[in-house]
Amino acid sequence: MKLITLYDNQAREKFKAGWGFSCLLKLEEQTILFDTGADVETLAYNARLLEIDKDKISHCFISHDHYDHTGGIGWLSPKTKVVFPNQYKGEISQIDAMVFDLPIKEQTVIVKPNKVMLVGCSHPGIVRMANAVYEKYGKLKLIIGGFHLLGKSEREVSEMAKVLLEKTELIAPCHCTGESAIKVFEEVFGKRFIENYAGKIIEI
Ligand SMILES: [Zn+2]
Ligand SMILES: [Zn+2]
Repeated sequence: MKLITLYDNQAREKFKAGWGFSCLLKLEEQTILFDTGADVETLAYNARLLEIDKDKISHCFISHDHYDHTGGIGWLSPKTKVVFPNQYKGEISQIDAMVFDLPIKEQTVIVKPNKVMLVGCSHPGIVRMANAVYEKYGKLKLIIGGFHLLGKSEREVSEMAKVLLEKTELIAPCHCTGESAIKVFEEVFGKRFIENYAGKIIEI
């Protein structure tokens, strides 16, 4: 499968950055979007550069109801089914969603055959979410998305990163993780760290 980041706080080359996150999942037979970033213009611009056919997106999972994840919903084709937490019925065999209720409702999407976990802002706590997914699906191949670690000390982040080392082979923290926390993950994960930004394509 391919993961294509369409929207992120960081961007490379000709792509545009914005505060938010959106990642396209190209599975063998299906294309799914996870979150939509904060605005239609940036999402549409980056998607055009990547030649994304939005009519092919069957589902758009929204991690949680914050503007930096819902702001680009207006870009979607009317053919795409938008799925907020607790709305997913399990109709895509490779995809599961796990919902956390506190402090706000937030869902993580799991691509089961590829062992990939996607997170929006991780408001329920990235370690808590990763632990729950690990309990159910075993060791992951990749965790990607926003970890919401702004304001955490380097030591706290380093301890969390060491816990996550056991839960996943690869890690791609971005969006609201924060630049200094992302650096800590890079140090702890070494070659298993993937830098993520708008325009990035990861093949798993
Ligand atoms: Zn966010
Ligand atoms: Zn949020």
